[in-house]
Order: sequence, then C-alpha cells, then structure tokens
Amino acid sequence: MSDELELFPAAPVAASASPTSHPASGIARVFVDVPLRRAFDYAIPLELRERVSKGSRVLVPFHGRKAVAFVSEIVERSEVPVSRLKSIARVLDERPAVTEEILSLASWVSSYYACGPGEALAAAVPHDVGTEEKKTKRSSLDLDAKVELAPGFDLSSTKRMGEKQRRILAALANAGGSLRSGDLLRIAEADRASLERLRERGALSLTSTPREESEPEVGTSEPPPPVLTGEQESALAPILEDLSARRFQATLLFGVTGSGKTEVYLRAIARSLELGRGAIVLVPEIALTPQTERRFRGRFGSLVAVLHSRQGGRARAREWKRVRDGSARVVVGPRSAVWAPVRDLGVVVIDEEHDPSYKQESSPRYHARDTAIMRARAASAPVILGSATPSLESWQNATEGKYRLARLRGRPGGALLPRCDIVDIAREWTEVRAQPLFSRALELSLKEAFERGERAIVFLNRRGFTTFLHCPQCGHVQKCPQCDIALAFHKREAALLCHFCYHRAATPRGPCPACLGPPLRQRGSGTEKVEEVFRTMFPGVTTVRLDSDALAGGVTPEDVLRRFRDGSAQVLIGTQMVAKGLDVPEVTVVGVVSADTGLSHPDFRSAERTFQLVAQVAGRAGRGARPGRTVIQTFNPLHDAIALAAKHDFETFAARELESRAQLGYPPFGRLLKVLWRSPSPARVEAEAEAAVADLKDALSGKEAAVLGPAPSPRRYLAGKHRWQALVKARSPGAIKAAVGALEARGGDKAVEMALDVDPVSLL
Ligand code: ADP
Ligand code: ZN
Repeated sequence: MSDELELFPAAPVAASASPTSHPASGIARVFVDVPLRRAFDYAIPLELRERVSKGSRVLVPFHGRKAVAFVSEIVERSEVPVSRLKSIARVLDERPAVTEEILSLASWVSSYYACGPGEALAAAVPHDVGTEEKKTKRSSLDLDAKVELAPGFDLSSTKRMGEKQRRILAALANAGGSLRSGDLLRIAEADRASLERLRERGALSLTSTPREESEPEVGTSEPPPPVLTGEQESALAPILEDLSARRFQATLLFGVTGSGKTEVYLRAIARSLELGRGAIVLVPEIALTPQTERRFRGRFGSLVAVLHSRQGGRARAREWKRVRDGSARVVVGPRSAVWAPVRDLGVVVIDEEHDPSYKQESSPRYHARDTAIMRARAASAPVILGSATPSLESWQNATEGKYRLARLRGRPGGALLPRCDIVDIAREWTEVRAQPLFSRALELSLKEAFERGERAIVFLNRRGFTTFLHCPQCGHVQKCPQCDIALAFHKREAALLCHFCYHRAATPRGPCPACLGPPLRQRGSGTEKVEEVFRTMFPGVTTVRLDSDALAGGVTPEDVLRRFRDGSAQVLIGTQMVAKGLDVPEVTVVGVVSADTGLSHPDFRSAERTFQLVAQVAGRAGRGARPGRTVIQTFNPLHDAIALAAKHDFETFAARELESRAQLGYPPFGRLLKVLWRSPSPARVEAEAEAAVADLKDALSGKEAAVLGPAPSPRRYLAGKHRWQALVKARSPGAIKAAVGALEARGGDKAVEMALDVDPVSLL
C-alpha cells in the first residue's frame, strides 16, 4: 500500500460555464454512490439549509433517478451555472452520517483503489440507517424477508429478463425455492431493484418475518482473564506503550492457532477503553466464529457492537447507531467494519490478516486490512495484525522492520501442535489397486478417534458431489453455456450447477452428447460426495456439512456448527469455511481429502493460499488436552506449500516463496493493477483490450512497469460476458497511479465495461 496519505484529492466538478454564485443557500459538493471519481455540485434548497453539512447523506437527482450522495464540502460558488444546477431532494439523516475522519478515509480509498468515493461511503453507512426518515424503494426492501418462488411461475419465460433477474431466479431455484433476501442478493450478485421488478412481475413473493433480535448480553458467567504467558506479555507491552503515546505502529502478531493471540487483542482493547478510546476488530467472517463474538461480549459486554455480513439490515443499522452514539466503543466485524463510526479510535485489530476475504471483489475494490492501517495511521492508533500464516506482504514488512514482529510460539495450556502425516495419493492408489477417497491412514485415524469418543473434521475445498461429468471416450465435459466452465454435479438436487452464475441444467442420461459414445462419468469429488462415502464407511457416525450449498435456504453456519460443537454430530465435513477459526477441544483428527484443489490455479498466490489453508485446517486438531493428528492427502507430497505446511514451518515457506516473488517482481516486491474488460461481444472486448493496452504501454514507457496481456481471462466467459484482462506490474505505487490515470483518461468503446483492481487478491 501507499505510504502517502492523500486526503481530499482535488475534486473536479462538472465544468461547463464560468463560475456563478448561487443566491439561494449555498452549494453542496457531493460524492454520488456511483463508480465515478468526480464530485458533483447541487444547490441546497433554503428549507434544507439547516440540515445539510459536511458528511450529510442526501438524495439527489442523478440521470433520471434519485441517488444517494454524501456532502464532501459546502462551497460558495460552482462552475455550473445556477440555471443548470439541480437541487438536493432530501436529507436522509438528522445528523451527518459520516464524520470528517470517514470522509478522509473514503477519499484515500477512492484515490488509491480507483473507485468512486461515494461508493466507498455507501459501504460505510448501513442502508437502513435513517429509514424512519426516508421512504424510498431502495430502503423498503427488508433484507431479512423470506423470498420464495411464486408457485406456477414459468421459469422458462426468463428469456426476456435482464441478467440480474435471471441470476436471482437461478439462485432461488438452486436453493430449493426460498432464501433470505439479503442472502439471495449476495449469492446472485444482484441489486434490490431487480428483486423488486421480479416481485412486480409476480415471479416471487417476499414475506417479512419479525426476527428476534439478540440483545447484547453482559458477561456475568465469564471466567476472569487468564494470567498472560511471558510471550503474551512481551507482545503486549510495546503495544500498550504505543497506545499511551498515541503512536501509530503496526505489530504483526505471529502465532499458531490457539497460541493466545485473541487474549492479546482483548488486553490491548481493555487499555484503549481505560483511556476512554474505542477499538475496531476486523475478522474474516464473524458468523463462522461465534466463539469470537462470545469472547468479546463476555469481556466488554454491551460496549461491543458486532456487525455480521449476514445480519439483517435493521439489526445492522441498530448496531451502527450504537457505535455512532458512543454507547458501543468496540466494533467487531468483517471488512465493512473498517468504516464503523468509532469515536476516538485507540487501537485496530486485524485478525487472520492474511484472509483473502478482506479484499472486496466488487466495486469499491478496497482491501480492508490496508484501509484499516490507513485509518489507524490517521488516528495515531496502533494496529495489531494477527495470523498463524501471515500474508507475505505483512511478513516482508515485519522482516524489514516496518512492522514490529511479536511471536507466540507455544500454546498457553501446553497443547501440542497436531502431528501431520502426508499421504501420497498416487502411491496409495497403486498399493490398494483402487481409487478410494479416504486413504487407509485417514480411515484408521478416524476410526480410532470415534472409538475414543472424539470428533473429527474432514476438509475438501470443493463443494458439490463430483466436480464434473466427463466422457471416458472423447473427453467431452459438460460445461456452463454462459461461463464456459465445467458444471458441477449436485446429487441431492440431481442437477448440474454452475458455481459462478448458478445456471442449472438437467443431468444428461444416455450416451455422451458429443460423441454419442458411452454415458458420461463422474470425475473428481466435492464435499457432498465425501459425505456420502463417509457415511457408508462409518454408518454409526453422525455427520454435518458446512459449505455454501449446506447454507442455502436460510441455514446459518451457527446452526451447523452448534450441532458439531454440542456433540450431536461427531464429524464436520466442509470447504474452507471449516478452516476459519473453529475451536472445538474434542476434535483430534483432521483429514484433508485433497490438498491440491487450489494448487493449479493460474495465480501467483496459489501456493501461498494452499499453505494457508492446509496449515489453518491442520490447526483445528488437538486444541484440547488430547493430542491431535492431521492426515493430508495429496498428489504433490513434495510441494513446499504442502510439505512445509505439514511441518508448521511458515518461515521456510515464506523465505522460499519470497525469493521467487522477488525474481518475478510480484508483491510484496512489486505492485499490481488488474484490468478487466467485459462485453457480450467477443470481438469488441478483444479490440478494446488491445487498444487500451497499447495506450497503457505508451503511458508507462520509461517507467519501471510492465504490462502483461491482454489475454482472455482465466474465466474467459462468465455470466454471458466475454472477459479479457491485463496485469500491470510496477515497482512503485506511482507507476500504478499513472496506469490508472491513463486508463481513466481514454475514451474507449463505451459498450465494453472496464473494471480496475488495484492490489488484486485474485487473478481469476
Ligand atoms: P488464538 O487467538 O491465537 O487462536 P486464543 O487467544 O483463542 O488463541 O487462545 C487459545 C485458548 O487458550 C483459549 O481458550 C484461551 O482462553 C486460552 N488462553 C489464552 N491465553 C491464555 C493464558 N495466558 N493462560 C491460559 N489460557 C490462555
Ligand atoms: Zn455459469
């Protein structure tokens, strides 16, 4: 990330005539919630004069609709003539929705990540805040409402519908016909308007159910905080000094899962509260780690506000208001919690700082970790980045001394790290003359664990029943017609599903449709298949499954995990969701069915990601008194990402991986900008990508930067659009800025969408 804090970049305004002053009551310069960097001027009607100030959230007429906007400045004069200046339509909140601090942060995000400041600010304020005052269509949708397919609605009539509406219907059908509306919009990546249109068409129904709101419970039954270990003390002491001195300093807290990092966070936050300040704690996904929530509430009671990504709009708005009003001073939540209106921020914690979910993959494409660091720096607050498998960016910063490094080597109770055994699948298959999903070693470990009354986790980072259907004769694979990627077979639904656009197809019976030869065979395995095989192996053992399919239809991770935690199920089978911080002492065996699922991704971070996943999931075993064992099955037993993860040897892995990153100029030694072009027309997207890259190369000549591509993106056809991409690799943030500037300045083909991703986390 950039070192320079660029607050309030000069805001270009709609310029068309000579400056005129507005007689009425001043002019508001606003950032509209659209992917545009520039500010727009609006007249402030006299009757609203008292209520509009810097940070106000307003509705303004924008291209024939009403859009949400944030007032960045009140100015006396505009370059837009009075006669053409439109007026603010309404003020959405009684007081300014965002503070100057958040406005500055949004400006930084906008200029660093090349996104609209209005989009960033819209992420900062829950939509439902101030609903009492506004009655717009946008807010009238209850995110907790249950959405159901209208009985008798003909799904084949979707031809005349927009893409988003089709995605909504597909996602609903995929989920068995009903979903919570907030989840539906997220899964289908659609907006409220599309959902409303479908409702108007009679395709679906929405039922609002009053949700019981969990009141923050004060921790009466909480045990007193433990006495810190020596390592925890040495990690904490300098952070407390930073806090007292109001000094920005990042500390990388590097410790295996269960080493006591959370306890260090809790102590730093306690000091911040003593000093009358607040705290922000970022976690990858709080819904997956309910025990984290309990620990924070247990320690700080109602001073804690928790934001969930699955939370309903109103619950979220209520928590947000408690923070704004100062009754909650510790905010725990995912990515968007970085925007929480915490007053007098004292400390920022970023747990599992390596987690890819901190990067938002849709506009505004900000990285919450780096944004949180910028916020802390502006607030002169210390930052704690915690991880057992730090990102190589943070590790490099710690090695260079930019971050302070604090280590927690042991586990407080003396619990041992699990023993990891690697099973070479190829060898196993030769020896047993078959291709079983579970090796003899894994089966035996599981059997012994269940006999001792212990529990197990079985992990495979791929959902579905099998990966794809494949013709043994001609090699034909059933693919998604919209995305050109293999369709996954889902047995329970007896259907083929596209995991990207939720296209659904019937399972072909009979001969291969391509060569009319033999019937298609199932290839590869997903979690659903793993569960089925497991059940035949261990008929007496109760299973629960945690993956995005298992969560369809309103089931929450908490529902699934509760059954595992309370012992009604003895085995938890799932995708990377199970790797995220689950702490169940009875788990003694973890099986990784295949560690290879991500290794072949065309992404320079695929090894890092694989290392993290394997190490994290292995860390789930043996957290109680009994020793743990992890069995990792792989076709690549010698690969660093697997062999070193099995030895819990992060440092050797990091050193080797950093060496190759340095050679190739990849982060942390260089910076990246991913440019994605999308269009239904393959010819136009290609032509536009070629033309843009030619301009880009001109603009970057003489700078230490290279442009890779353009080339068809690894997901070259997705959701009905052809995709091309290019990657800019540069030594300095300045060159990335120059590339962004050059791309934004060119006219280009308006029919081709362009998306910029600064510091991309996924290259797919
Ligand atoms: P991490 O965040 O690194 O996974 P935690 O802070 O959750 O680790 O600690 C793991 C377990 O050890 C928790 O149950 C916690 O209550 C306990 N623990 C943490 N610090 C201490 C300590 N100093 N003494 C005893 N137990 C501790
Ligand atoms: Zn698809």
